[in-house]
Amino acid sequence: MKAHDGMYIDGAWRPAAGSDTIEVLNPVDEQVVGRVPAGTAEDVDHAVRAARAALPAWAATPPTERAARLSVLRDVLVARQDEIAETVTAELGSPLKFSQNVHAAVPIAVAGSYAELAATYAFEEKAGNSTVHLEPVGVVGAITPWNYPLHQIVAKVAPALAAGCTVVLKPAEDTPLVAQLFAEAVHEAGVPAGVFNLVTGLGPVAGQALAEHPDVDLVSFTGSTAVGRQIGATAGAAIKKVALELGGKSANVILPSADLAKAVNVGVANVMSNSGQTCSAWTRMLVHRDQYEEAVELAATAAAKYGDRIGPVVNAKQQARVRSYIDKGVAEGARLVAGGLESPREQGYFVSPTVFADVTPDMTIAQEEIFGPVLSILRYEDEEDALRIANGTVYGLAGAVWAGDQAEAVAFARRLETGQVDINGGRFNPLAPFGGYKQSGVGRELGTHGLSEYLQTKSLQF
Ligand code: NAD
Repeated sequence: MKAHDGMYIDGAWRPAAGSDTIEVLNPVDEQVVGRVPAGTAEDVDHAVRAARAALPAWAATPPTERAARLSVLRDVLVARQDEIAETVTAELGSPLKFSQNVHAAVPIAVAGSYAELAATYAFEEKAGNSTVHLEPVGVVGAITPWNYPLHQIVAKVAPALAAGCTVVLKPAEDTPLVAQLFAEAVHEAGVPAGVFNLVTGLGPVAGQALAEHPDVDLVSFTGSTAVGRQIGATAGAAIKKVALELGGKSANVILPSADLAKAVNVGVANVMSNSGQTCSAWTRMLVHRDQYEEAVELAATAAAKYGDRIGPVVNAKQQARVRSYIDKGVAEGARLVAGGLESPREQGYFVSPTVFADVTPDMTIAQEEIFGPVLSILRYEDEEDALRIANGTVYGLAGAVWAGDQAEAVAFARRLETGQVDINGGRFNPLAPFGGYKQSGVGRELGTHGLSEYLQTKSLQF
């Protein structure tokens, strides 16, 4: 797609207030693929005013009509899925097949789920002598990262629109092109002017202006824990609602009764997919000491097969960051069994699929989110030890449990301090609430739980 040189505000592409631009690079060859305007506080203010002005009419639009718009939006995304996949591949560097199967397909599923939910959800409840109305929270400021760029946009905008909220989106600076494509799709879907607005720009400028804007009622943020903490504090000071989807350091617990080869291979694939840039990736593999060396060998073999096929990481900074963690792993005494510092290609921001064995729970690579294709394998003595290690980080976003018997895996999963657990390789479900325990975040996305983030209650007593 061709990049727009303006902001999508109040139903049209409008010139940016300033003249600064952001260059979008293809991480595979480091070439410029587009330029978008770097928004300022003035652009954000225009967009918030448009969203505020559009709120009363959109909030009063019957849910079935909102559902109809979302359904058309889903159809537009379907019609443009090849373009979406190509755009994400160009700015994120992910292999085209992955962009088609995940970056384009998942947002379609999520948009479809909210078209259905908007039409069927009970926006009114009875509680004794009261009627409880579930009303839109108001103007939403949505701030999204680059790793699943369209999914993270749709996971906020679709439920917000379903709820009757209006939105100002500030997408990640690395992946603004698919956000512009999304704005085109919203326009094509006939969503009224001002209901959805897009301001591209840098986090500390446009993002911060949006998070601090007094006329934003809810800030929904996905990204790093450091920025999330700052946004939470700003929202707290203004008594403003906030939803935070933050980092993770999820455990893949392989119990002794599991199919070891399957659990290891699926576990490695999970970490390497999207070049390890998945907040819910199972970056810590926990294996019983009796099966440990076999698992390490299986994981090293599996990782070595990926080579450069996983694609690069998003930018030079991320590449340097991931490599510094690989350095740290070696320095702290972990055993490198696959990958390492050498890049599989000279050009582009590639990182070798890397596996560390002999990782102990206190090591930096076992505690901090790396956000790259790096797997740590930890040894446990018994189930209680596995549980202590699995729960022993500040995060709690996702995880996996493998066992010969499903009930055994479920019993273990129930003791994990985390928002999602895949049992024996369970499939992604766009209706299942997604979000974190502990420092992985506040609130939930997807399904009815995701919708309720954008609603507030009003009780009428009779
Ligand atoms: P980031 O926090 O730097 O950026 C995320 C978004 O916030 C971007 O749009 C950015 O421009 C904006 N931003 C940056 N500084 C800001 C500020 N001061 N005020 C307002 N907005 C600001 O994170 P990233 O580097 O884009 O993404 C990687 C991180 O995000 C990882 O830690 C990852 O785990 C996390 N993440 C979490 C989830 C989840 O669902 N829990 C999903 C994806 C990524």
